[in-house]
Amino acid sequence: MPEKSPKNPLVYLIGAGPGDPGLVTVRGRECLGLADVVIYDYLANDDLLRFARPGAELIYAGKVGGHHNREQWQINELLVEKALAGNVVARLKGGDPFVFGRGGEECEALVAAAIPFEIVPGVTAGIGATAYAGIPLTHRGITTSVAFVTGHEGHDKEVSQIDWEGLSLGSGTVVFYMGIKNLPQITANLMAHGRPPETPVALVRWGTRPEQEVLTGTLADIAERACQTGFKAPAITIVGEVVRLREKLRWFDNRPLFGKSILVTRAADQAGEFGAMLGALGARVVECPTIAIVHPETWDDLDGAIAHLDRFHWIVFTSVNAVRFFFERLAASGRDSRSLSGCRVCAVGPKTSAALAPFGIRPDLIPVDYKGEGVVEVFRSEAITGKRILFPKGDRARDVIPQGLAELGAEVTAPVAYRNVMPEALPSGVITDLEERRIDCATFTSSSTVENLAAIVGENRLIRLLEGVTVAAIGPITAGTCRELGLDVHVEPPKYTLAAMTDALVDHFSRKA
Ligand code: SAH
Repeated sequence: MPEKSPKNPLVYLIGAGPGDPGLVTVRGRECLGLADVVIYDYLANDDLLRFARPGAELIYAGKVGGHHNREQWQINELLVEKALAGNVVARLKGGDPFVFGRGGEECEALVAAAIPFEIVPGVTAGIGATAYAGIPLTHRGITTSVAFVTGHEGHDKEVSQIDWEGLSLGSGTVVFYMGIKNLPQITANLMAHGRPPETPVALVRWGTRPEQEVLTGTLADIAERACQTGFKAPAITIVGEVVRLREKLRWFDNRPLFGKSILVTRAADQAGEFGAMLGALGARVVECPTIAIVHPETWDDLDGAIAHLDRFHWIVFTSVNAVRFFFERLAASGRDSRSLSGCRVCAVGPKTSAALAPFGIRPDLIPVDYKGEGVVEVFRSEAITGKRILFPKGDRARDVIPQGLAELGAEVTAPVAYRNVMPEALPSGVITDLEERRIDCATFTSSSTVENLAAIVGENRLIRLLEGVTVAAIGPITAGTCRELGLDVHVEPPKYTLAAMTDALVDHFSRKA
């Protein structure tokens, strides 16, 4: 057998942006997906690691064996070593690699080892965190320049390399990185060199993340305030008149659910939509799937139907999962969408319809009402007496469709294409979040979400873990199940939809505030 030729070594230095995973560049995301090895930093949001390809080696650059921090030279060596082994390496760094990121040093090491590299710029904290704090760096009539300065230069440094006079005399905005510890020296230096003590200052910690914290004050008092409030790194310090604009332009950290951590217990593949709704209002969404979608116990029924697709006049899909598993088995049998050429297709709604698109299938029929009853209704005008209909379904699907279509005279075959089961464990961070009281609200969108959660963690423990946590249930049945399990229900929307649930949460937390 010919030996697998190793890939040519290549390193991408990728700016991860300041935290919000949406702020990575398109190119950065692309390169992450190309890498065999990803070496990432403390400040790079590790949510971005989901863009790495499955099986890629993920290395946290911060710690060696969980202990002391790796030194820069060790990181350089690691980069070179991994690349020379024939890997495509993605070096994921917080913000921008070339702004106080020591990216230049890493490149020097790569040049010395003759390893080719590409730099993918990122949104640096000075740009990202300021934008999310509602502070423009420059503003017509207020300031015409901006400087990014390290605040890390110790006050014990005898001759400062920072041009304090230059920074102090103009009206330019100054953004200090790594300056929280040295805040008293920084503010004192600026004032000593001529910046008025009443100059506004803002500190932005974990900017662009759901944890973002902003503290404002003046050159004269910010150090004291930071000390009093226990304000910690990582944060940037913004000095200049532009800081006043925050009052008017604040948009991110004043959204109605900002700062709230909300547990979403739906199945992972259904959580996205609800999570996005909550996230758009500022919540930190903690996914805690209590339902997992898995294969049926046997494929016999579905495979049997797939082997005789030419017998069917119609196929009905009522979920994205049904589409996924049906086409998975279709492919496993060596067939493809052409086997459906004699078959008309009904999709329950737009999402299921969109899931069919990648297979080149455009549904012939979509009901007005996106549910089982709607499917039966729309088939009334389709003359299906004596027709054979295939309905690949979930194990918990209601009988509405098989029964309704049979009543219309059709012959329905309904093999189980997937099952809803309880996962054995929760994602590792969730229990810690609950134990350390970092969750503000738990949402339950069906009885099985709360039943399964209770079964996974244990009923008594559930009550303990949710003490002081706002419990939201989508409707009366789910709320009843919560109460039976000993939980108080604090939020129950008037309509049983995710949108109404979201509104009810906003309402609840604004009243609480
Ligand atoms: N290369 C990074 C900076 C690394 S230096 C960039 O371009 O952003 C580390 C400093 O960056 C931190 O001490 C802090 O001052 C700043 N920083 C990084 N991410 C930040 C964030 N999300 N919010 C506020 N400051 C941040």
